[in-house]
Amino acid sequence: MGEVLQFLIMGSFCLLVGAGFAGLIYVSARQQFKKFGIKDMAHLRKLAKEPPEAMQATVDATVREELEPVKVTPPGHSPRSRLEQLREVGLRGDAGTLERFDPDFSPVVFEDFAHALFTRVHEARGGGRLDRVGAWLSDDAFEALRTLGRPAQVKDPLVGVMAYADVTGVADNSSRVQVSLRFEAHYTEVDAVGAEQPWYVTEAWTLERTPAVASRSPDTVGTFIFTCPNCGAPSEAQRGGTCYRCDTKVNTGGFDWVVQSVRLLAREQRVPRGIGPPRSRDPKLPTLRDARAEANLDALGREDPDFILLALRPRLELILQEVRAGASHPDGQGMRPFLGDNVFRSQRHGSQASRDAGVRHVTRRSAIQHVSLARMSRDTYYDALTVRVHATCVDYSVRESDQKLVAGSAEHPRDFSEYWTLVRRRGVKGAPGTTRTCPSCGKPLTVDAAGYCMSCQAHLTSGAFDWVLHRIEQDASYRG
Ligand SMILES: [Zn+2]
Ligand SMILES: [Zn+2]
Repeated sequence: MGEVLQFLIMGSFCLLVGAGFAGLIYVSARQQFKKFGIKDMAHLRKLAKEPPEAMQATVDATVREELEPVKVTPPGHSPRSRLEQLREVGLRGDAGTLERFDPDFSPVVFEDFAHALFTRVHEARGGGRLDRVGAWLSDDAFEALRTLGRPAQVKDPLVGVMAYADVTGVADNSSRVQVSLRFEAHYTEVDAVGAEQPWYVTEAWTLERTPAVASRSPDTVGTFIFTCPNCGAPSEAQRGGTCYRCDTKVNTGGFDWVVQSVRLLAREQRVPRGIGPPRSRDPKLPTLRDARAEANLDALGREDPDFILLALRPRLELILQEVRAGASHPDGQGMRPFLGDNVFRSQRHGSQASRDAGVRHVTRRSAIQHVSLARMSRDTYYDALTVRVHATCVDYSVRESDQKLVAGSAEHPRDFSEYWTLVRRRGVKGAPGTTRTCPSCGKPLTVDAAGYCMSCQAHLTSGAFDWVLHRIEQDASYRG
C-alpha cells in the first residue's frame, strides 16, 4: 500500500512540475512504473492487495490521465472564458480602486437565458406577437425576424447547438459588452390553414449590454423574458421596445441584454449533414485545461470533502448510458432527470433530426474509459465542472424503411470523447448520486417533462440537489 501511495504522490508531483514548465504536459506513466518496479496495471493492483474500489479508480485515473497530453489555457483565451470575466471587471478609479459592475454574473445563467430567449422569440414570431419580446430586440433584430415570414404558429423550437463565436468589451471601464452566438436549431412553422413546415436553421445572434447591469438569479430565467427589464410590467405593456408602464425605451442594452442583430446563415427543410451520433475522437487533440481548474476544484473540495472528481465517475457512467439509450427514444424519459433543460432539448433536436432523416441510431455497451479535468468555475449561483469524457460504445445507424445499416458498426466498438459540463447549485454538498432514485425523497426516479420529481415535486434538473448535465461539446468545437 505504501508503494502505491508513494507512486500516486509522485504522479501528482510530476504533473505539477510539468504544468509549471510548459502548457503542454506529457508525463509518461510507464517511466514511473519502471521507477517503482511495477510491471503493469495488474501488478500495481496486486501490490495494493485488492484495494477498495475507490483506490483502484484513483490508480486507474492517475495513470491514464498522465498518458494523455493536456494543454493548459490561460484565463480569457476563449470567448466563454472572456465572458466569465464579466463578473471581475468594473469601474477602476485613479487610486486603483475597483467597483465591480456585476459580481453575480454567471455564464450558466446567461446560457440558460440565451437558450430561453431564442425559443421565446421564435415562438413569438407565430401570430405576429414579436412585441411580447420587444424589450429584448433592437429595432434591427426585430426587422430581421419579421422578414422570416408571418406564420400563424411556430411550434417547439429546439436548439441543437449554441456556440460562442466571439465575446468583446469585457474590460474595466468598458461601456459595451458584445456576445456573438451561433444557434443550430429546428422548429416547425404552421400557416393559416394549418399546413406544417419544418425548418432546420443556423442563425448568428449578437447580444449586447452595458457591463453595469446586475444579473438576475437563475430562478427567474424562464419568466423575466415576458416582463419589462426596467419596471417589471408584463410584456403586454410593450410595443416595439418601449414600455408604456414606465414610459421608457428599454431595448437599448442599458437595462439588460438586447439582441443587437439576427442573421440567418442557413434555413433548409432537409436535415443538415453532420447531425447524428458523435464522431470518432481525434486522439491528436490534447485536453484543453483551464489554468484555474485545479485551484477551483481544490476550493470546492475544501467546502465539500465528499466531492472528489473520482466520485463523480459512476454518475457520469449512469448519465452516459441514459443519454445514449435515450437517443433512440422520442420522450427521453430515462435521461431527463440528469439533464438541464438546454441539453435535454438539444438531445431531442438530435432525435428529431434522426426521425426526419428516416434513420434510427442504436447504441450498446457504452462505457467510460477515463475522465480528465478541463474546467471548473464557481460563481454566485453555480459550481460548473467541465470534464473530457473518453468513452467507448458500439453504435450504428439503420435506415427505418429497410433496416439497412447506413453508418457505424454493429460489432466493433469505437472510441469517442466529448466535453461535458455539469452544474450544481452553489452550496449544495455531498457525494454525487449514482442510483436511479430521487435525491430529495428517495423514491424511484421518475420526472415530468420539466424535470420535477413525480413523487415529491422537487425540481431535480435545476442542479439544486445534485450534479446535472448542462452542456455537451464535441472535441473539435470545444475551445475552453
Ligand atoms: Zn417598464
Ligand atoms: Zn422526489
